[in-house]
Amino acid sequence: TNKPRIVILGAGYAGMMTTKRLTQKLGAEEAEIVLVNKHNYHYQTTWLHEIAAGTRNQNQARMMISDVFNPNRVRLIYDSVVEVKKDEKRVLLENSEISYDYLVISLGFETNTFGIKGMEKNAFSIQDIETSRLISEHIEYQFAKYTLDPKAKKEDLTILVGGGGFTGIEFVGELAEQVPKLCKKYDIDPSIPKIINVEAAPSILPGFNEVLVAYAKKSLEDRGVEFRIGAKIQECKKNSFVINDGEEVKAGTIVWTGGVTGNSILSKSGFEITKGKVTVNEDLRAPGEEDIFIIGDCAWVMNKEEGRPFPPTAQAAMQHADTCASNIKALLQGGALESFVFDDKGTVASLGNADAMGTVFSGTKLYGKSASAMKKVIDNRYLFLLGGPRLILKKGKLRPF
Ligand code: FAD
Repeated sequence: TNKPRIVILGAGYAGMMTTKRLTQKLGAEEAEIVLVNKHNYHYQTTWLHEIAAGTRNQNQARMMISDVFNPNRVRLIYDSVVEVKKDEKRVLLENSEISYDYLVISLGFETNTFGIKGMEKNAFSIQDIETSRLISEHIEYQFAKYTLDPKAKKEDLTILVGGGGFTGIEFVGELAEQVPKLCKKYDIDPSIPKIINVEAAPSILPGFNEVLVAYAKKSLEDRGVEFRIGAKIQECKKNSFVINDGEEVKAGTIVWTGGVTGNSILSKSGFEITKGKVTVNEDLRAPGEEDIFIIGDCAWVMNKEEGRPFPPTAQAAMQHADTCASNIKALLQGGALESFVFDDKGTVASLGNADAMGTVFSGTKLYGKSASAMKKVIDNRYLFLLGGPRLILKKGKLRPF
């Protein structure tokens, strides 16, 4: 058959929702849909801080892709993308290659250490299921060996988190919950372990309302988190950060959450890059490309009102997917392409399982248990969009606290 082939690279929020929408918008005879992903499972990137802290089992945060899409309807290829040869309309994978008529690049983010000396080598990062699981295993190992190893030092139980943005703060919130549990499990005096968050800017959570920031900071401090704000990390050594004028903060676990950028496959494939991502047209196509869409954390989408790009979020990635699928349909069936319009539904940051803060519905502030419940509603809503009530029952956050 000569059906046009749509290839989607990356099964994150953007890739999964684009595939879902395409299966809804297009008949099976209209196009062949191919989804390429590194793993045979899809994971919830927005839950990775919970996996990294050890407060949630990794299996709840992931699902088999073939449980969501019928492999007869969507061709599933589990392989790693190596490079897009856009002039030849094909994609090189680690073990094979595939040609396309329409391409969607939704390969997500990569950690960015901004060249801080030693950071890439010595710090863990919250990137995917595997790197996140490694962090919780490493922390638990530090606790498990503390009472056994005569050479163990108190600072082995310190967890140092670089970066006080959204991910860093959500992560220390989970740690504040997990550390007391580990103390109980391994009979360790709870006054020994420390959780220290280091942020170079004058405040944590840039972009959040200052009342909400103050709430988050106090909630976390009350549960033992220490903040070093306005502290510039000069170097990451094997077991420490060197900050400001040379002060050394020691730890047994170091996690960098201070920066992300677009997937490096973009630059490898010859796209024009701005700060690690491609600035896309209003219809979400790459500049100068008729048949390539770039969405999710790989794309800068301009907020014309503010003259700068929207921040990368799962919320935006899912909305990109709607526009992208509609525009592919328009390309196939004829008709005008639509421009992306962001519908900001607010942002809620968790501070552990039972506390959160954020804004919803054009600016209403939420705190504490109600915010935490709202956060779980947001997480479950995504599962509903993807797989209906069945997926919520299987993978949802069903216990309120
Ligand atoms: P991803 O979800 O990262 O998916 C990319 C996919 O591509 C992955 O499945 C990956 O395996 C695959 N892939 C990567 N490279 C290759 C390759 N070479 N070959 C094949 N496959 C590949 N946003 C919110 O809106 N709300 C939140 O509360 C929130 N919380 C967050 C908490 C944490 C801890 C983190 C890290 C992020 C959070 N974000 C949140 C941001 C949000 O997760 C991202 O904006 C979102 O995941 C972007 O979606 P995406 O589809 O572009 O990328």
